[in-house]
Amino acid sequence: MPAVAGTPALTVTDKPLVSLKPGTIPRAVDTTVDVLIVGLGPGGLIAAREFAKQGFNVLGIDRKQELGWPKRCAEGVSDEGLAHCGVKPDPAWAYGRIEGAALYSPSGKRVVLEGADTYGWVVERKIFEKHLARDAILAGAKIMVKTQAVNLLKDQAGAVAGVRAEFMGTQFNIRAKLTIGADGIDSFIGKWSGLKTLNRVRDYHSGFQYEMVGVAGYEEKWLHLYFGEDVAPKGYVWIFPKGEGVSNVGIGILAKESEWGNRAQDYLDRWIERNPQMFQNASITEINGSGIPVSARVPEPVGDGVMLVGDAAQLVNPIHGGGIIIAMRAAMIAARVGGEALRAGDVSAAKLRPYIVEYQTKDEGAVTEKLLRMRYFMENLTDRDFERLADILDGTTIMEVANARFPTFIKLLLKHFPKLAPLVRKYIMAVQQMEEAKAQRDWDEVDQLLANVEKTLAEQAAA
Ligand SMILES: Cc1cc2nc3c(=O)[nH]c(=O)nc-3n(C[C@H](O)[C@H](O)[C@H](O)COP(=O)(O)OP(=O)(O)OC[C@H]3O[C@@H](n4cnc5c(N)ncnc54)[C@H](O)[C@@H]3O)c2cc1C
Repeated sequence: MPAVAGTPALTVTDKPLVSLKPGTIPRAVDTTVDVLIVGLGPGGLIAAREFAKQGFNVLGIDRKQELGWPKRCAEGVSDEGLAHCGVKPDPAWAYGRIEGAALYSPSGKRVVLEGADTYGWVVERKIFEKHLARDAILAGAKIMVKTQAVNLLKDQAGAVAGVRAEFMGTQFNIRAKLTIGADGIDSFIGKWSGLKTLNRVRDYHSGFQYEMVGVAGYEEKWLHLYFGEDVAPKGYVWIFPKGEGVSNVGIGILAKESEWGNRAQDYLDRWIERNPQMFQNASITEINGSGIPVSARVPEPVGDGVMLVGDAAQLVNPIHGGGIIIAMRAAMIAARVGGEALRAGDVSAAKLRPYIVEYQTKDEGAVTEKLLRMRYFMENLTDRDFERLADILDGTTIMEVANARFPTFIKLLLKHFPKLAPLVRKYIMAVQQMEEAKAQRDWDEVDQLLANVEKTLAEQAAA
């Protein structure tokens, strides 16, 4: 290729790299493994570690040339979540110590959430993920970076049987008994496998973020969340402190609210300009953005020979969009269920389905599906409603809501917002239907509240 004047010469070739031959470390040559993991974010790396610990022959691939970078994330994780996944905070990546959160109404009223439930870290993902990779490799997994899945391999019966991958211009086949799609929000493993991964437009947030140094006027021990229609429609602005004057300053808005001049970045830039006292000595050291699925999950994250974890299965918290810990927890369940299926010699969708059943009934899914309804409910609230909520809600009640325990919240709503009664009723009915379908929890108290709503409605109609 001719060199372009003034630019460094580039070498471009479509010939396979001659140095790539089978060897002691994974190379771009056809290979067969027990478990192939596509995507090495937190979900894929925990899956790699957990499958390897069971003695399986595991290969993980990621299209990035460096794991963990560029991040598309505010990097907040909880103590409880890390401990559940057997990850010990390390000063190399656990940067900002968090002991609570401060929520701000449109006019600036502040409600603070504190307590052990709120403890956690703002991490440096590019080091965090390298450490997760180290743990996976030391447990026996092999990984390849700069290696992208470009197509799916299927067996004669149509079951997923690995991928065709590409490393620096060289394509090769990775055959696997079980393929884990941990390839994030852009997941192609799900689409190629024929799993329904398309979301409704109302279930996407558009996220945009600056990592900044020199922002002033916030307590470093709290996460800070700012609400309001002018701040972030159907979303919020955040400041996640990474310690020593560094913070992630970002925004998530409902994607369908985004339009030219009113994109997530436009809202964030306007909010920064309205707060010069915080930003006059600040500069941006990194810019990133991405879509955030806020739907709780795809309908069916397993198929014959394939399982999806993390963002690939849209396993996120539908209210705040957090998905690191959720991806890791789901990966732990997937590795256990997938391991049993492999040992039984049956990796059919039916054999893999207990993964999602366990996630939905005993793990984060039990909470996130209710939070999805709560998000729809909250999207109907106006700035005025948020101001009044700031007056009546305390940190404890907000934490209950965050953990999908709603009775106190609903009682307060009915007492202070009788005009919201029809909406509250709709919400409770939706949750009830869901619970009936799953027949798993005692909602007697909510039944009682529903009766109260009916009474309030009748009284309103009579007045
Ligand atoms: C602006 C923003 C802020 C956020 N803040 C937070 C937060 O503070 N806390 C939190 O918990 N969550 C947050 N999230 C969400 C969080 O980043 C994700 O939920 C989390 O990263 C999901 O992990 P994962 O392992 O499923 O996928 P990812 O971390 O997205 O990893 C997927 C990997 O797959 C690789 N890949 C994709 N396609 C291929 C392919 N074809 N072949 C090979 N490799 C492939 C990618 O390179 C990537 O490394 C935020 C998201 C955004 C956008």
